[in-house]
Amino acid sequence: MSEPLVGVLALQGDFDEHEVALQALGLRTRQIRRAADLVGLRGIVLPGGESTTMLRLLDVEGLWEPLGAALRSGLPVFATCAGMILLAARVENPQQRSYALLPITVVRNGYGRQLHSGTFALESTVLPAGTTGTFIRAPRITHVDGGCEVLARRGGDPVLVQCGPILAACFHPELALRHPVCARFAAMVREQEAAPAPAAAMMA
Ligand code: GLN
Repeated sequence: MSEPLVGVLALQGDFDEHEVALQALGLRTRQIRRAADLVGLRGIVLPGGESTTMLRLLDVEGLWEPLGAALRSGLPVFATCAGMILLAARVENPQQRSYALLPITVVRNGYGRQLHSGTFALESTVLPAGTTGTFIRAPRITHVDGGCEVLARRGGDPVLVQCGPILAACFHPELALRHPVCARFAAMVREQEAAPAPAAAMMA
């Protein structure tokens, strides 16, 4: 049986790194650039990058609506950094449009513009001890509503959340080899592949 196919939004940002990270875990990947690329996927990745640019390109390519339908279909979704911003219910600094599928509030560049980047220890009961996350002009989660599980924190702040089939990180697990967060997403995809939800089956 062939490995499940995961689509990676490839309009802007570090989609290449996501493909390499998921392929290292045995998944097949396809770049999403047009609506036709959404057919037959078993998972979707929204990569890191610049969320404002992604919003503009989603409109230019006519992808805003078709991608939204795929994101709402119940497929496993993995969103990092700018990808998380695209899914958050409320976006601040400045406010901007989003798919509002994750019941969280994010502040863009919420860790300050001086310290753009760094690798920090994560506090988590579900990730292996010593797991770190690389933050690059990361959004800060300032509010998490019920129904959204916090899987990891940095300095007390939530930085990894899961809401049903959606896993979202403020940091960049795709930059590390076989990061446990990428492995968790791969496991979500394989589980759903084993028992496809009706909505996911309709995407085939
Ligand atoms: N600062 C970016 C934004 O607001 C996100 C940064 C990232 O994805 N590494 O969209």
